[in-house]
Amino acid sequence: MASTNICVACGICCDGHLFDHARMYPGEQPLCASLGMGTEERDDGEGRFLLPCPRHGAEGCTVYDRRPTTCRTFRCRLLKDHEAGAISGDEALAVIGKVHALDWHGTLRPLLLRLVPDQAGPVTRHLLAAQAAIAADPDPAAQRRTHAQALLRTTALVELLRQYFYKRPEEDPAARE
Ligand code: SF4
Ligand code: SF4
Repeated sequence: MASTNICVACGICCDGHLFDHARMYPGEQPLCASLGMGTEERDDGEGRFLLPCPRHGAEGCTVYDRRPTTCRTFRCRLLKDHEAGAISGDEALAVIGKVHALDWHGTLRPLLLRLVPDQAGPVTRHLLAAQAAIAADPDPAAQRRTHAQALLRTTALVELLRQYFYKRPEEDPAARE
């Protein structure tokens, strides 16, 4: 991520909200491994490191000077819009505050795991899996009532991510490129 107050306050491209992996540039496997990051190679030979990143901390990236190339170059839509002057710093921080207030890791994700215990990946994937589990349940209406608050709040979170962070509203990539 970039060196801005916005990113220090945010970190959701590192902590698993948005993506479950990022592009690993050729030759960076030893670096990623030395940073404790999980890595893998796709069938086409492209490498990637896995997210959430273990080097993400409360104050942002804890290995900032050693971070991999993708971490240096990636810019989400919010950051691009801010750098282009389309959204102020205060507005961007307010959006980030809304995301954090929904408390994905501390509250919503554990609630959704009650529906699909082995689910992994970014927020969007959890929500889709939860909706599918409810649809397949013998009593979906009862399940919706039981999980109403978690579903509503996770839907609101996904909308924020799609509206402000992913490249386009209709795009829902799993990878940070
Ligand atoms: S999601 Fe965007 S604003 Fe947040 S840390 Fe990543 S690049 Fe920065
Ligand atoms: S190395 Fe730093 S910037 Fe890169 S994913 Fe991990 S915490 Fe984020």
